[in-house]
Amino acid sequence: MIHHIELMQSSDYKNKLAQCIHCGLCLQACPTYAVFGTEMDAPRGRIALMRAASDGRLTPEQFNDAFTTHINLCLACRACETACPSGVQYGALLDGAHKTIVANHAPGAVENFVRWLGLREMMPHVERMKFVARLMWLYEKSGVQKLVRAINFLPKPLKAMEAILPPIEPRYRDYRAPAPAIGEKRGTVAFFIGCIQEAFLSSVNEATIRVLQRNGYEVHFPAGQTCCGAAQLHVGEYDLVRQLAKQNIDAFLAREYDAILSNAGGCGATLRTEYAHLFHDDSAYAAKAKKFSAQVQDVNEFIAAHYTNPPKGNVPVRVTYSDSCHLRHVQKVVKQPRDLIKSIPGVQLVELKLPDRCCGSAGVYNIVNASVADDVLAAKMADIATTGAQMIVASNIGCHMQLIAGARQAQLNVPVVHVMQLLDMAYQAAERKT
Ligand code: SF4
Ligand code: SF4
Repeated sequence: MIHHIELMQSSDYKNKLAQCIHCGLCLQACPTYAVFGTEMDAPRGRIALMRAASDGRLTPEQFNDAFTTHINLCLACRACETACPSGVQYGALLDGAHKTIVANHAPGAVENFVRWLGLREMMPHVERMKFVARLMWLYEKSGVQKLVRAINFLPKPLKAMEAILPPIEPRYRDYRAPAPAIGEKRGTVAFFIGCIQEAFLSSVNEATIRVLQRNGYEVHFPAGQTCCGAAQLHVGEYDLVRQLAKQNIDAFLAREYDAILSNAGGCGATLRTEYAHLFHDDSAYAAKAKKFSAQVQDVNEFIAAHYTNPPKGNVPVRVTYSDSCHLRHVQKVVKQPRDLIKSIPGVQLVELKLPDRCCGSAGVYNIVNASVADDVLAAKMADIATTGAQMIVASNIGCHMQLIAGARQAQLNVPVVHVMQLLDMAYQAAERKT
């Protein structure tokens, strides 16, 4: 018997399924279809599986094997949603399928331990994440990393985690005081610092804050903020996600800001699109969650709309931009990062052949489905190589780490930077000239 299938049998879910007209126009947009070439690893095939589950045509064995396998192999990149001419809400359909899989899955002792440690005891506590990052910095600097990579003995999930470790610089800002506007003050924004972002690539946060300051914004870092809950949501830890979301909502709504800003496409998508949904039937938090989500913006979007002080420094470099799926397909922020990159004197932006193609990061996909993620990443790196880019520009922490690993594995020897870091370089170049 398939448990808790009701969600996929609701009339709303069935109506969403019925929107698919099987045209197949989404297939070429799908990265897992590109890897496997099989219908069941393409959006149309996955929707057919969802329809079979919804109609009660799957046996428990088929649900546990075919359905779970092919749904779990989906990167949730939502490129198919953008490509679909019929307006199929693939994200909502996938969400229902995931929830049903989670409800039918009893995690074993090891999985429970990993979830408890990673999702509950680490990610929501940025100081603990920083402690781990400092240990990883030692691991990198001491030469142990080189040895581990040369011997190549780690079990698969650990090897996948190790592969995406970025070069760590464990220098952290004291977030108790706001960062003042530089020049004329135009407003006050709240900044979401993230968990992995802050611990492992704090230089991206530093650059983001400086760019906001230079454009006249005082940047606040509301105390009590925590991890966005995206990873916890993915594995169905709904109570924990609600707890984290409440913490963030309370922290950011404690005073009024012009906007709440995130520089990570994935986190921003969760803050912006999931929180209101999480509390739709919670009388105490429904309105607050809506208010919070309505204020969240990606920093590219915000700077592009409030770009009062474009940098004047020259950065003579050929770059390519790799979209974050959640920034592009969920938040629909496509043009703004490109406009910002092109605004920098000296920068030449060369577009990828498939700019909307996922890099294979996809939350924890590159750890739990490492070999498929590697194939997706290899295709991305081949596309990047043809641009002749000397630098890869990203806009999400997961993609950023994945692309660093990809550049190393493909021996491209090019750095990966966030859009805000590229802007920051241009401001610094101008300062050096004066
Ligand atoms: S979300 Fe991405 S991986 Fe999943 S079916 Fe759509 S295009 Fe394919
Ligand atoms: S999801 Fe959209 S594009 Fe894909 S087969 Fe269905 S209707 Fe066509």
